[in-house]
Amino acid sequence: MRDMAVVLVSAAVLLLVYHAVRRSGAGLRAAVAVGAVANAAVLYGLAVTQPAGSVVTVAVVSAVGALHALLSAGRDGLRRVAVLDPAGLRGLVRTVAGLEPPQLIGLFVPYTGGLMVTAFGDDARPEGRQFRVPAGDYCPFCLVEEQARALTGPDADALLAEYRGHVRRGSSRHVLIRRMEPGDPWTGRLRDRVGYRTPPRSPACPAHAPTGPGAGSGAGAGPGAVS
Ligand SMILES: [Zn+2]
Repeated sequence: MRDMAVVLVSAAVLLLVYHAVRRSGAGLRAAVAVGAVANAAVLYGLAVTQPAGSVVTVAVVSAVGALHALLSAGRDGLRRVAVLDPAGLRGLVRTVAGLEPPQLIGLFVPYTGGLMVTAFGDDARPEGRQFRVPAGDYCPFCLVEEQARALTGPDADALLAEYRGHVRRGSSRHVLIRRMEPGDPWTGRLRDRVGYRTPPRSPACPAHAPTGPGAGSGAGAGPGAVS
């Protein structure tokens, strides 16, 4: 009976830790670090004082609780991201263009299609607020190029040629366009992260369809231009 009480209290402590971390708004790394420390402390304490079965039971409850907390945090995060359609994105870019520097906008096509957008960076959020354009009847890569050109004009040519090369080889990039001081030109760069290299869905677009081995699986099945 006493063993059962210890198991219940130990599991409850870990679940309360997950709940508190989630409510605190801590980032994923901090949450994982706190969770790992709490698990190590609780499971070690059980291992030296309780039968092995108690450790396994609490570890299983902890794993399920951690997974639930992660999924819930992901859903919460997605709900906080404002959703735009392509017309709304163009309006966002016009707004960014009319601001006082520093002005920035980041555009990224994730594996799932659509667009992830960041804009309006400040000291608290140097990467900017997040927006999302759901996948739809448009080529997201064309939409990225269109927004970059809207801000930089022909200066974007070299950057977008490089971007298109990565996309056609099946690897996405984050396009970051910004202007730091009044009178400065807009500048752009491509950010490369391991997570960006997951092949994006093959767009049905003559400009962005993949080349090389296995190319053509998604080409020719829809509109190629931004609507
Ligand atoms: Zn395209």
